[in-house]
Amino acid sequence: MRKTVLLLAILLVFPALAMAKDVTTVANVYIPNVATLAYLGTFDVQFEEGEGKDYARIVGDREVIEDIRLAGFEVEILIDDLAAWVEARRKAIESRPKEQAPVGDVDLDHYLTHTEMGTYLNDLATAYPDIMSLETIGESVSGRALYLVKISDNVGTNEAEPAFFMEASIHGDEIACYIHSLYTIEWLVTNYGADDAVTDIVDNTEIFIEPLTNPDGNYDDPTWGRSRYNDNGVDMNRNNGYMWYPSTTYGTSLHSEPETAALAHVWARPQPYVLGISEHSGTIVVSLP
Ligand SMILES: [Zn+2]
Repeated sequence: MRKTVLLLAILLVFPALAMAKDVTTVANVYIPNVATLAYLGTFDVQFEEGEGKDYARIVGDREVIEDIRLAGFEVEILIDDLAAWVEARRKAIESRPKEQAPVGDVDLDHYLTHTEMGTYLNDLATAYPDIMSLETIGESVSGRALYLVKISDNVGTNEAEPAFFMEASIHGDEIACYIHSLYTIEWLVTNYGADDAVTDIVDNTEIFIEPLTNPDGNYDDPTWGRSRYNDNGVDMNRNNGYMWYPSTTYGTSLHSEPETAALAHVWARPQPYVLGISEHSGTIVVSLP
């Protein structure tokens, strides 16, 4: 009891100290050489990825990131308080319609909004019903539909053909791969029967493409722009099985996010998957298992 009272007293005297805990900050840190990177590794932070040539993107307690700055590192704060950022972003999204008014014909001559993508994919599936189907596999945190396209001959039947899976833009701010996946869909369905290679692929494989895995992050908010995270502030590319552990930006459990749970359900289907690609944009690298 006495300890509780004492702790309470300390917290009352130093409210800032008590408040400062649990504030998660996202920052870029300049790394001029390998020795500096090793030194940075001694701090209790999570490395998200390299940004450009000489930067590491880190996530950690605001106080630790301040310690890193005091240790002489050049620190650029990207998100000062991740929880506050999530709350503000959600409020902003609630105040605006998730979907726009229905749109007419959509061409791939710009970065499509989520609504435009829905129209575009529906129109393609209607135009090529024998080889393309469109399915909604779930909803994002903020309620945007998650679309999965299937392309194959006899598309209504799951045949025992080798299956290929591709998802794009699990990082919502990596938008080139989102459009690239839509081009891939268009290329396959419009060249079927005309191009021998495409016809062979469509006849003999089952192709599954989720063109926009993180529609919330792809939403171009006027204040924050697009985001790597979903609207729970989770980096969903770190919420799947590989090297996963619980953390603020990796999620509270494996596939804790509706978007990654939808992915897991698709992967669990009794489909003979032989190849899969997670498409990103922003750097030139191919990671193989
Ligand atoms: Zn990425």
